[in-house]
Amino acid sequence: MTKKHQEIRDAVTQLCTHYPGEYWRNKDREEAYPSEFVEALTMAGFLGCLIPEKYGGSGLGLSEASAVMEEIQASGCNGGACHAQMYTMGTVLRHGSEDQKRMLLPGIARGDLRLQAFGVTEPTSGTDTSRIKTTAVKDGNNYRINGQKVWTSRIKYSDFMLLLARTQPREAGAKPHHGMSVFLIDIRNAEKNGLTIKPLRAMVNHATTEVFFDDLKVPASALVGEEGMGFRYILDGLNAERILIAAECVGDSRWFIERATTYAKEREVFDRPIGKNQGVQFPIARSYAETQAASLMVESAADLFDSGDSCGAEANMAKLLAADASWRAADMCLQTHGGFGFAEEYDVERKFRETRLYQVAPISTNLILSYIAEHVLGLPRSF
Ligand SMILES: Cc1cc2nc3c(=O)[nH]c(=O)nc-3n(C[C@H](O)[C@H](O)[C@H](O)COP(=O)(O)OP(=O)(O)OC[C@H]3O[C@@H](n4cnc5c(N)ncnc54)[C@H](O)[C@@H]3O)c2cc1C
Repeated sequence: MTKKHQEIRDAVTQLCTHYPGEYWRNKDREEAYPSEFVEALTMAGFLGCLIPEKYGGSGLGLSEASAVMEEIQASGCNGGACHAQMYTMGTVLRHGSEDQKRMLLPGIARGDLRLQAFGVTEPTSGTDTSRIKTTAVKDGNNYRINGQKVWTSRIKYSDFMLLLARTQPREAGAKPHHGMSVFLIDIRNAEKNGLTIKPLRAMVNHATTEVFFDDLKVPASALVGEEGMGFRYILDGLNAERILIAAECVGDSRWFIERATTYAKEREVFDRPIGKNQGVQFPIARSYAETQAASLMVESAADLFDSGDSCGAEANMAKLLAADASWRAADMCLQTHGGFGFAEEYDVERKFRETRLYQVAPISTNLILSYIAEHVLGLPRSF
């Protein structure tokens, strides 16, 4: 199957050759951030590809951005360290003021500023975002922010974060999702003034943290768009996020299939390559078919997004199918490698852990199924 945007794919693959498995293994072992890799991607213009040309970016579409993320993963690298830079800025681009855009977007495109962090998830609210407890209360020309976020990734490697906070109690709005607002927080000044960041050790090296707000004062100009509309603004960005992460899953899947195929041809047991056994071949072949199907769904969702058509169902289905394909491919690849699948030096166990994340984040499989059931098939609302 011919892939779109071959030139972009070749350039990303070439860049990734400088960051082999050993680089990622060391980062993983030390829980270190892959700064060199992220900087190289930024300098090559890949992370600013969705920023319009008038703000210094390359003004490309989600289809091209998906090709970038897919090739990063297919090369064995981990785009989770920086993928948010691509889609988080979309909220500012669509809903921010001209001043906010001019202050931020050219800097992101040049690589001087980073907007890698967004804080939505809280420990007690779970997927029910309407129950977040972090508040932002207007105080003259400022807002005072109090509360806690969890799983806020990459904040230590970011200059700004997007934060979702309640500006009105849940009960005061006509609907539970009303009364939340988005803020663009300058982290560089915040750590001395009420923002505390605590690393959260996890199964994957994702630079993720807990974040505490203790009366953090931010200027009223940090508000993005209109007060109370934050949930809608965040939702607008979710389709882009889901499509890009689906593309990453397709890339992961391709990596697992390539590794499994190579190993199955080379590894000899009982005087023959293990790949001669159909019990070994078939799971690889099935993974390939599943990945090709998921890839078509990702392309279709990205094309709809780029043409400005509604793509909620397609973005969700792309994420579901691609995350399932990559997780099954991971399991298949580990099984094909036998005991060596568990050895760090093969990178399979690391990629296995990394791709497992996408069954849960940024949205869990059940919640996607519930979206399809309710919004596409018209089944009765469950919760
Ligand atoms: C490594 C990592 C990085 C992350 N980075 C970020 C980040 O940068 N910013 C951020 O805001 N968040 C981030 N997250 C949070 C992530 O988006 C959430 O973990 C995810 O959305 C699931 O929410 P939860 O953990 O609260 O699960 P819960 O909502 O508590 O759900 C737990 C389980 O119950 C299921 N479930 C819940 N309700 C229902 C229902 N009604 N029907 C059926 N099943 C249901 C879910 O599918 C899930 O499997 C990150 C998470 C991880 C692990």
